[in-house]
Amino acid sequence: MSKKVCVIGGGVAGLAVAIGLHQQGIDVEVVERDKDWKVYHVGIIVQANFIRALETLGLGKAAVDAGFPYRGARFLTPSGDLIAELPGESQVDGLPGDLGLTRPALHEVLTSKVKALGIPVKLGVTFESFTDNTATGGDSVDVTFTDGTSGTYDLLIAADGNYSAVRKVLWPEAKPAFTGQGVWRYNVPRPADLEWSDLYIGVENGYKGKAGYCPLTPEEMYIFVVTEEPGNPRFDPATLAEEMSKRLAGYGGVLGEAAKAVTDPALTVYRPLEACIMPDPWYQGRVVLIGDAAHSATPHLGQGAAMAVEDAVVLAEELGEDQSIEAALQAFMLRRFERAKLVGTSSIMLGEWEMHPEKAGDPVEVTERIRRTLAEPV
Ligand SMILES: Cc1cc2nc3c(=O)[nH]c(=O)nc-3n(C[C@H](O)[C@H](O)[C@H](O)COP(=O)(O)OP(=O)(O)OC[C@H]3O[C@@H](n4cnc5c(N)ncnc54)[C@H](O)[C@@H]3O)c2cc1C
Repeated sequence: MSKKVCVIGGGVAGLAVAIGLHQQGIDVEVVERDKDWKVYHVGIIVQANFIRALETLGLGKAAVDAGFPYRGARFLTPSGDLIAELPGESQVDGLPGDLGLTRPALHEVLTSKVKALGIPVKLGVTFESFTDNTATGGDSVDVTFTDGTSGTYDLLIAADGNYSAVRKVLWPEAKPAFTGQGVWRYNVPRPADLEWSDLYIGVENGYKGKAGYCPLTPEEMYIFVVTEEPGNPRFDPATLAEEMSKRLAGYGGVLGEAAKAVTDPALTVYRPLEACIMPDPWYQGRVVLIGDAAHSATPHLGQGAAMAVEDAVVLAEELGEDQSIEAALQAFMLRRFERAKLVGTSSIMLGEWEMHPEKAGDPVEVTERIRRTLAEPV
């Protein structure tokens, strides 16, 4: 039976699922709210399971070529002494385990493929309303769009991110909640010999969190600092570099040196961390949530993009099988729920440990264990 699917949101999950569905011979179209289809210039850290999932879509090498494969993650003391090394372990022959890349580079990899496949994408458009016909015994969903068009689909996939408008319609009570921390990011030149992503933990500078960096290209790396931000403050944009520098006080090693480059408020990116982990199932009738819309976590494990692409690959595979949409959605949940929940709850727990060191467990052990779990087949 031929299937027709509409994807709301042309970000990581939406583009990946569109490519996966196209590969399965399923008719798919995407609507993206941003007419310029842009992402901001910061870095993204990904691991072997992300590369494996992208490789399923034929894009593993393209992503690696667009970024900087690094040797793995190291945990350091605030002054830069080594605590532990977690070398990246490849899951795809010929491709690395750990990778840093800029968001625009990842976006380019995904958008180029979508364009090359001729998948229709409407920019500057979102849904106006949708009606799930299963509620009245039907087997489709009718969608009207803000450009005045409408369509009937077998499935509506909401890949519209952490603040999902589709989720708001179907699960109005589900809202991203501030976790107590924020993340500050800034791109700086990469020291020529830097081949690891380093995490400096256990700082005692009054801002409870951690900091680190990750190479993005041969020339560039980004530094980040995660801090407790009581009351979820809003900052004057003119003060962002100064505020980030304050939070980097007390760090030594490569980070201490790199922190000196944080001077331009316009290049400083601050985001409060807000998470929303949906219970099972992530679907109602013919509408399903994927990516951050279903399980936005904090960036403590660097797994958000990997979870989004894994969702996309698994959903496309199940929809490509000879089974009903309902059976495909059930199979999708069976393969995805526990895995994404583990990443989400563990990421939030790592942030809690940073804010309450007196109750903390061992972040190295948790990170290593989850890396091993995520190396298992999806
Ligand atoms: C500070 C921070 C740092 C992070 N660092 C990392 C990291 O290092 N590694 C990692 O793997 N992950 C990281 N993440 C998480 C990662 O960015 C997300 O998990 C990933 O982008 C999720 O993809 P998505 O497609 O679900 O959502 P998004 O990438 O947010 O894409 C959603 C898309 O939907 C569009 N959209 C939104 N609403 C509508 C609408 N109503 N109609 C149509 N389109 C709409 C948006 O414009 C966007 O294009 C980080 C997140 C944050 C906040």
